[in-house]
Amino acid sequence: MASVGKLSASKITTYKGCGLAYFLKYVQHEKTPANVRSVFGKDIHYMLDRFYSVNYQSPESFAKYWKYYWTSNVAGNFLKGKNKEELIVKEFKLKDDFILRIGNHIEFGEDPVGIFFGYMKLGENILKKFYVRHKNLPPPIAKEKSFGNKKDEPFKINGHLIRGVFDRIDKTDKGYYITDYKTDKKSPEKDSFVLHRHPQFTIYSYAFRKLYGEEEQAILYYHLRSGKVFKTHRSEKDFDYIKKLLDEVSEGISRSRFVPFYGFHCNFCDYRVVCERYAIPHRGGPRIDLEGKIKGAKEFTEWDIDPPEWMNLQSEDREE
Ligand code: SF4
Repeated sequence: MASVGKLSASKITTYKGCGLAYFLKYVQHEKTPANVRSVFGKDIHYMLDRFYSVNYQSPESFAKYWKYYWTSNVAGNFLKGKNKEELIVKEFKLKDDFILRIGNHIEFGEDPVGIFFGYMKLGENILKKFYVRHKNLPPPIAKEKSFGNKKDEPFKINGHLIRGVFDRIDKTDKGYYITDYKTDKKSPEKDSFVLHRHPQFTIYSYAFRKLYGEEEQAILYYHLRSGKVFKTHRSEKDFDYIKKLLDEVSEGISRSRFVPFYGFHCNFCDYRVVCERYAIPHRGGPRIDLEGKIKGAKEFTEWDIDPPEWMNLQSEDREE
């Protein structure tokens, strides 16, 4: 039996996306380099939080701090303890004797230098635009406000412990607005299907109403790349849905149902290398053995039959 602990929107998304990925990440705590996209997203959130605590004098000075922060984080300068000890840094000598240092704590793919500068430029654009728009506007009434994190202040939905963070909450004469910053490429402009259904916003809405005792005017999806803001709402029907979803996820985790979901999404999974280690060496079939909990490979013995020569199979045999 696995402990469910505190659920969150990202835990739910991971579990529903692939049970094994959840198991590797949240139960086994397997270590894997962080995806550069999510590191970038977190760093931009940090910068937007900092925007309201430091009085930057110009968009340029704000962007200058970003460049320092991004370069330092990528080099692993902020790591501590065991993470620092395990850090391996690769150096790239660039123009004007500049040495770019990239640590193995972040997965940069095949073109680390290009990706590093691509994200640095993107961050600069996002932050300068944010500065110009918000410098003379009132600050939010709350920023990076977490709920359900503290032991003595648990937060529950339908009996399930939940934690989350509001990126910002603003109050105008019309009421409260919950805003979530997004650094994603795609925006809900052409397709708002997910925007109006995503459990993350349903949890925010539910939590806000419980914590503030009022209904929010709207939940805002702030697409930072374009600066566009998209509005969504939640109702009691959405809350019925989130309760059912939480029941299902919670039951699955507590019963240790961590069945892998193989598919093309595995190509983007941070746990793919680790995932391989949990497999039984076998030709074809699922090759799964979660310490004897999930089996299946042996049922596929017919795959062991050598194929006729004319098939001229292109895929490589797996190791025995
Ligand atoms: S590689 Fe695929 S099956 Fe393995 S953990 Fe990731 S998503 Fe799940």
